[in-house]
Amino acid sequence: MAHHLPSFTDVLNAAERLQGIAHKTPVLQSSTLNAQMQAEVFIKCENFQRMGAFKFRGGYNALAKLNATQKQAGVVAYSSGNHAQAIALSARILNMPATIFMPHDAAPSKLAATQGYGAQVIGYDRYSEDASALAAKLAQDRGMTFIPPFDHPDVLAGQGTAALELFEEVGELDALFVCLGGGGLLSGSALAAKAKSPHCKIYGVEPEAGNDVQQSFRQGERVKIPTPITIADGAQTPMVGAITFELIKQWVDDIHTVSDAQLIEVMRFYAERMKMIVEPTGCLSLAAALQARDSLKGQRVGVIISGGNIDLARFAQLLAL
Ligand SMILES: *Cc1c(COP(=O)(O)O)cnc(C)c1O
Repeated sequence: MAHHLPSFTDVLNAAERLQGIAHKTPVLQSSTLNAQMQAEVFIKCENFQRMGAFKFRGGYNALAKLNATQKQAGVVAYSSGNHAQAIALSARILNMPATIFMPHDAAPSKLAATQGYGAQVIGYDRYSEDASALAAKLAQDRGMTFIPPFDHPDVLAGQGTAALELFEEVGELDALFVCLGGGGLLSGSALAAKAKSPHCKIYGVEPEAGNDVQQSFRQGERVKIPTPITIADGAQTPMVGAITFELIKQWVDDIHTVSDAQLIEVMRFYAERMKMIVEPTGCLSLAAALQARDSLKGQRVGVIISGGNIDLARFAQLLAL
């Protein structure tokens, strides 16, 4: 591999940078869920992270590492939502200019939040335009730094701090389920797990309609699919990252998939039983744990909720289905 793969030390360094800046999110349990699963389930609630998702961790870690000249020139990113807000908020905290490419059909709340943090937003068509190329070109033209949403050592190391906190709080686990799009959260979590809980099985979970990482994992090389149609809008990535895939191949045990109907069931459970609003993508992890419950009996199981950003009208519409 040409690039240097991040290690657990990078996750620890990220945790130090995020100290006092990111929230240490709560780990919750539900006795209803534990009874249903006949297991002990620890839910790491990144829906309560700043800007509403774990992405703040990776975004801030990547920007905080830039030198003064780079900070002054500013950052470019692209995202359908949460990475946009993460970069916009991190840039504001670090006093940096930010330009973010967002799809024309991005959730209105995510667009408003990104602009609210002071970033300049440029629209693109998510089904026909290559946002990564647009962002990389703008960064080059203006001498700014392009921070991609997942395939970046500092981004994924930052994302790994959520799982690090989980293990530090509850100790070792038998299994950990992680929501999966491009693999930043999963690969960072795997680095934390292998150091803090070496026997823990690590599972990535993606939507059934977009199982590119499952296909890639089984074939041993990255598979690209058309942008999948699913309610899990944080996991509509057509292909896993190059760096994240190297780590996933090395440390992850398997990739599970769940349907949109299963995600809605979990959204309802979180709302009704735990009084939490969780976005569809954030429900991937628990949906897969429930699906695998027969093999998890008697175990200590970790589940990372990745985010809680969803328009209330959309939330109500999905729960009415
Ligand atoms: C970005 C995101 C994901 C996927 O994360 P990756 O690091 O791309 O795998 C999952 N859930 C939410 C809420 C997200 O914002």
